[in-house]
Amino acid sequence: MKNSPFMAAGLFTLLCTALHGAPDPQWLGHDRARPAPAVVTPGTFSSQEQPGTPPSDATVLFDGKDNSAWVAMDGSPTKWVVKDGALECVPGSGYVRSLQAFGDCQLHVEWAAPTPPHGDSQGRGNSGVFFGFGRYEVQVLDSYNNKTYADGSAASVYGQYPPLVNASLAPGRWQVYDIIWTAPRFDDEGKLKSKARLTVLHNGVVVQNNVELTGPTGWVGRIPYPNHPERTPIAFQDHGNPVRYRNVWVRELNNPRHKEFRLSDATLDSYAGDYSNGKVTRLPEGLLAINVGGVDTVLHAESQTKFYALTTDIQVEFNVAEGKKQALVTVGDDFTRAMRWEKK
Ligand code: MG
Repeated sequence: MKNSPFMAAGLFTLLCTALHGAPDPQWLGHDRARPAPAVVTPGTFSSQEQPGTPPSDATVLFDGKDNSAWVAMDGSPTKWVVKDGALECVPGSGYVRSLQAFGDCQLHVEWAAPTPPHGDSQGRGNSGVFFGFGRYEVQVLDSYNNKTYADGSAASVYGQYPPLVNASLAPGRWQVYDIIWTAPRFDDEGKLKSKARLTVLHNGVVVQNNVELTGPTGWVGRIPYPNHPERTPIAFQDHGNPVRYRNVWVRELNNPRHKEFRLSDATLDSYAGDYSNGKVTRLPEGLLAINVGGVDTVLHAESQTKFYALTTDIQVEFNVAEGKKQALVTVGDDFTRAMRWEKK
């Protein structure tokens, strides 16, 4: 067969496709069978006087009324207070964290530094928005006419990336962080597969553009990535200044099947132990492991009592109320064969 211009054009197209690939190879370009994006009703913007509203699919972490989505780092009740529609740091009470854990997400946070300002440099209006269960900090600081080291300024990725510009408002004013977080990924052996990334808008101004973190943030030195779950709580720092937060909401970006929570150490301790049919053990990072059929499986909490596994369809419901100590263990959807484990 002789070459024709049409064949050449076809080959060229094929070559281009092979070279560039498709955004998602399971769909054709303009595939009519491809599901339409879910409809989301956008929220409204905040003013200084009035916080805005979140998009319809957001998980609201603080709406100005109650702090029930927040706990101390060990999961016990937080000492941060709700005052005048804000969640306020009580110096000396420790970090506050979300009970729920999130993977890749969009986080909206509004914060205000104390006024009149006290202290200088890192001592003025210091707090922080942390991802990764207290590991990765987007700095909160009163950086309005306050000299400090660049990579410790407001909206810096602390100790790693100064903000591209200083978009700070005066202390006492409500300031907005819109943050896009990409969690680091680890393989089954706990080896780092991909690093964490952050994009930050400070009062609507891009100040971090998809930067790649070297590891956890910290004062002096570089900390290597430790293996941890993809989904982790969001935390605010107690750095000794009564910084206030309002209108906190988050949108998880990878549409997971279950919600995930990091329960208190006390609750997890009450579930761990020897049972009639096997054993439940504590793992780091607020996880549990259950031994079913001689295999240890990691369990993630989807509520205060229900747990699920990521790798096998194992579900466990604990019942330790009213003197009972039981775990109802199901594998797959065969609930008729649910195993009732009695705690020893
Ligand atoms: Mg800080």
